[in-house]
Amino acid sequence: MDLRDRPEDVAFRDEVKRFLDAHLVGEFAELGGRGGSGDETFGFETRLRWEKVLAEHGWTCIGWPTEHGGRGASMTEQVIFNEEYARAAAPGRVSILGEGLLGPTLIHYGTEAQKARFLPPIREGRELWCQGYSEPDAGSDLANVKTRAVLDGDEWVLSGQKVWTSLAHQSDWCFVVCRTDPDSSRHKGLSYLLVPMDQPGVEVRPITQLTRTSEFNEVFFDGARTARDNVVGAVGDGWRVALATLAFERGVALLGHQLSFRRELDHLVAVAQKNGKADDPVLRQRLAQAHIELTIMRYNTLRSLSGVDGPVAPPEASIAKLFWGSWHRALGELALDVLGPSATVVDGDQYELNEFQRSFLFSRSETIYGGSNQIQRNIIGERVLGLPPEPKGTA
Ligand SMILES: Cc1cc2nc3c(=O)[nH]c(=O)nc-3n(C[C@H](O)[C@H](O)[C@H](O)COP(=O)(O)OP(=O)(O)OC[C@H]3O[C@@H](n4cnc5c(N)ncnc54)[C@H](O)[C@@H]3O)c2cc1C
Repeated sequence: MDLRDRPEDVAFRDEVKRFLDAHLVGEFAELGGRGGSGDETFGFETRLRWEKVLAEHGWTCIGWPTEHGGRGASMTEQVIFNEEYARAAAPGRVSILGEGLLGPTLIHYGTEAQKARFLPPIREGRELWCQGYSEPDAGSDLANVKTRAVLDGDEWVLSGQKVWTSLAHQSDWCFVVCRTDPDSSRHKGLSYLLVPMDQPGVEVRPITQLTRTSEFNEVFFDGARTARDNVVGAVGDGWRVALATLAFERGVALLGHQLSFRRELDHLVAVAQKNGKADDPVLRQRLAQAHIELTIMRYNTLRSLSGVDGPVAPPEASIAKLFWGSWHRALGELALDVLGPSATVVDGDQYELNEFQRSFLFSRSETIYGGSNQIQRNIIGERVLGLPPEPKGTA
């Protein structure tokens, strides 16, 4: 396998660079690449305007097929786009859940009417989405979902509670996994509904995190309504559709912020060189190790994605998720050691965290969301190594 750019890749890379050189200016350049994971509330309005600039020039949803307004970009092109995007320190995207999760799910499972209604506003940055899966008793064990929906004429009526719903407070719509067969249990009898957020039956309560920001929320449905046709896949077949979305989440959708790790590590090396920590024999070993592992991660991601035209298969996706989540958590710890005692001090009276402090705190969550490290190990143990299924508690 040759991972160097072919002539057509060079041409595509140049096209991306030209676009970024011309448009990543003014208020967009001033954001300095902020607004990604763990920093979602930063510069939100500016990032929303940037999303529209991307859309006007055909740089949103580039992996979607052309008939749905995408570029039909190959996996290689998507990688190149993300690499250049991260390198240029372009703003954190606001529409990742719509573009990366719901859009591909609708393209595979949606009706023609659903595609016509929901895909264009995602592509144009006009409607933002959130993911209503987790509940207080249904996280890793998603099949335990208790939120219910019953039909009332031409509408579904929802009741129940979701939790950890990222960006719900900024979203127009939510894709919700809920129980539409009241007598069902586990993964049977679930449906995948598209629910508008701006209505009296939906209450969003932000959860304030260690980082002092509120990126995710509790969402309460109490008589919330959505049209009967807003069910993706068959009624009662929501588990299959929900898993398809998760496969997208664990696949290429994760690539984007993996690539921003390079910038973060480069910045950390620059800090270490400036503050003298690059002379510390242990820290320099750890910095070199971080570089080696990041390089391995990049090649492994490219290898897993080559020849793939959709979500990455579960074992590869699990290995990648386990690797990058743990790597970034370790980088957060290394960053604080490089900063030394100043890592415990924050700037100004607004308790503004710097890049590394934010990353240290937020990276703890990266070994949890999108399937925790333990769950990924279960998948690898059972599906790759053929180990017996995990023992169930007897209580
Ligand atoms: C930053 C962030 C953003 C999120 N955004 C969203 C979102 O937008 N929408 C959404 O629906 N959800 C979201 N989540 C929720 C996320 O999907 C859940 O946190 C995750 O699935 C774990 O579920 P839980 O928190 O209920 O933990 P639990 O499932 O209760 O797990 C607790 C601990 O037990 C371990 N554990 C659980 N089951 C097993 C097992 N079978 N074997 C071994 N160990 C096990 C876990 O690994 C974990 O360490 C987000 C979470 C975070 C941290």
